[in-house]
Amino acid sequence: MNSMINGKSIIIFGPPGAGKGTQSGLISTMTGKPQVSTGDMLRDAVADDSDVGREAKSYMDKGLLVPDEIILQLIKIRLSRDDAKSGLLFDGFPRTIPQAIALETLTDVSMVISLVVEDDEIVSRITGRRTDPETGEIYHLEYKPAPQHIRDRLLQRDDDTEDTVRNRLSTFHKQTAPLSDFYRDKGILFEVNGSGEIKQVSSSIEAIIEAKTGD
Ligand code: AMP
Repeated sequence: MNSMINGKSIIIFGPPGAGKGTQSGLISTMTGKPQVSTGDMLRDAVADDSDVGREAKSYMDKGLLVPDEIILQLIKIRLSRDDAKSGLLFDGFPRTIPQAIALETLTDVSMVISLVVEDDEIVSRITGRRTDPETGEIYHLEYKPAPQHIRDRLLQRDDDTEDTVRNRLSTFHKQTAPLSDFYRDKGILFEVNGSGEIKQVSSSIEAIIEAKTGD
């Protein structure tokens, strides 16, 4: 891996349900960077019933963003771990301009892979999304059915209902979408059509990372 990627972080960016979590596995394998999902960290805090978890849940349930201070505190702790030295793969972070500005003081970002998907498709994708609590694997009732023997144990996220999804999309357009311009201006935004088959999207991402590695 060359200096364009080595030691630097990568961001997978896009609206909720664009496939960020699904594609993170591939990027993590290709680059060796551990995936860090702020959504997963918050859900863990909620499951632990910690102070942070209780506060975060009140925002998450409404489809609103958790305050920047809470998120940045979690990110700083995560970046202080040994395996963060070669950079991290951020999934679902940053989600506001202040988060992106704060991140600049914490780690170098080499590329932002942006998955572009229309709102209507997002709603159908998210409402059919199910997670396997044992492996963390994400499935979809229609697009990525789980093996028969584990179907009974799959869970739907509390915030994956249609009303909350619509709020999360409006939050995305207001607060998070402006980050595209922020990173485009820096010349590190790589847009991918996220509406195709999972494998098709993966090949596009693979091509981008390979091209960048060859810089
Ligand atoms: P996700 O799993 O990335 O869709 O995140 C689920 C929810 O967690 C979001 O709808 C927000 O309420 C909250 N959340 C996750 N990451 C962030 C972030 N970087 N900034 C603010 N809120 C976040």
